[in-house]
Amino acid sequence: MKKPFLTLAQAREIIKTYPTPFHIYDEAGIRENARRLKAAFAWNPGFKEYFAVKATPTPGILKLLREEGCGVDCSSLTELMLAERCGFSGGEIMFSSNETPAEEFELAARLGAHINLDDLTHVEFLYKTLGRAPETVCCRFNPGGVFALGESKEGFQVMDNPGQAKYGMTRPQLAQAFLRLKELGTKRFGIHAFLASNTISNEYYPALARLLFQTAADVAAETGCAVAFINLSGGVGVPYRPEQPANDIAVIGEEVRRAYEEILVPAGMGDVAVFTELGRFMLAPFGHLVTTAVHEKHIYKEYIGVDACAANLMRPAVYGAYHHITVLGKEDAPCGRVYDVVGSLCENSDKFAIDRALPEIEMGDLLVLHDTGAHGFSMGYNYNGKLRSAELLLKADGAVELMRRAETPDDYFATLVW
Ligand SMILES: *Cc1c(COP(=O)(O)O)cnc(C)c1O
Repeated sequence: MKKPFLTLAQAREIIKTYPTPFHIYDEAGIRENARRLKAAFAWNPGFKEYFAVKATPTPGILKLLREEGCGVDCSSLTELMLAERCGFSGGEIMFSSNETPAEEFELAARLGAHINLDDLTHVEFLYKTLGRAPETVCCRFNPGGVFALGESKEGFQVMDNPGQAKYGMTRPQLAQAFLRLKELGTKRFGIHAFLASNTISNEYYPALARLLFQTAADVAAETGCAVAFINLSGGVGVPYRPEQPANDIAVIGEEVRRAYEEILVPAGMGDVAVFTELGRFMLAPFGHLVTTAVHEKHIYKEYIGVDACAANLMRPAVYGAYHHITVLGKEDAPCGRVYDVVGSLCENSDKFAIDRALPEIEMGDLLVLHDTGAHGFSMGYNYNGKLRSAELLLKADGAVELMRRAETPDDYFATLVW
């Protein structure tokens, strides 16, 4: 059973100041989870998590993660600016972008970020843009084909399609990029790959690590380039459904260590740092979207209308993603009703839940949508003139802090030319 980190009494108190809908994050949960990740990789002295800013681009969250020793992974100009304003600099920033404009490489270089090149042609583009090659450069690898793990009767545990993905360079291009960068003056190299998203499996990172460690050993031998770090990127998932098992980050860290000791240590590369760029794993379970039931409707189906909509959380509408729902104060009530829980967009896809068994909902009930801490608020938009909500932090001491105010109509009109 999924239990909210917020009680009905707390939520009632909060809405006196901050009306629904709002996103709220659990500081204690975020910190504990970040510490579990750090402990799982403590065997690697250079280990660092670069939180994927796109998952939750909120200064209150980024600063908190920085206190836990995390860096940030940025992919755009404004994400870099945000990182800078939150106090991140130099090797605390990874810049993993694609189709990158020159000004973004310039800012990344000025901040001293680790630049992660998405393509072989970006080597010359970066050199032309900066007039030099950075001391340290990372290259993104795409092995092509299909990436699949753990076949069973139910299918594959992990299945994704790097061969169809726009990211990264081929294996021969990776060696070519290293050689050209070395010629231009780069001294330290990184290798990065992101092969599967939201994996519910302890096997994804270890399998990816084996692939990247072997690739690093081979490319280092082939090119004479010094590999300083391997970036396992994102992709470790979270159980959105209550019946799904959670990943065990301690087991994942231990299995990556095994691969490291079997492949990199014998290759004389026992000083290589391991980096991660997790977004979802770091934040998703520690965010709730809180919304009020405002209408009910009985036609061919039973509908509950809420004051949030897909503009606050687009994953259900766009991916058909499951987000668990708890009716606050009715945590233990029997789920005797079946509802579609819907937002107010003029789009029939604006459904947070379809045919969901829930306790009987009364108007004014507060609903929690679970696991919205990553790729939730950040994917929001203004369709139908909807305004972005506030983001709140539930502090470890129980206090509530505003991290981002709700948009007002003035924000919506601010860019218009009349
Ligand atoms: C989105 C992204 C991540 C984070 O992915 P999660 O699924 O949230 O872990 C990490 N690295 C890069 C380059 C990304 O684009």
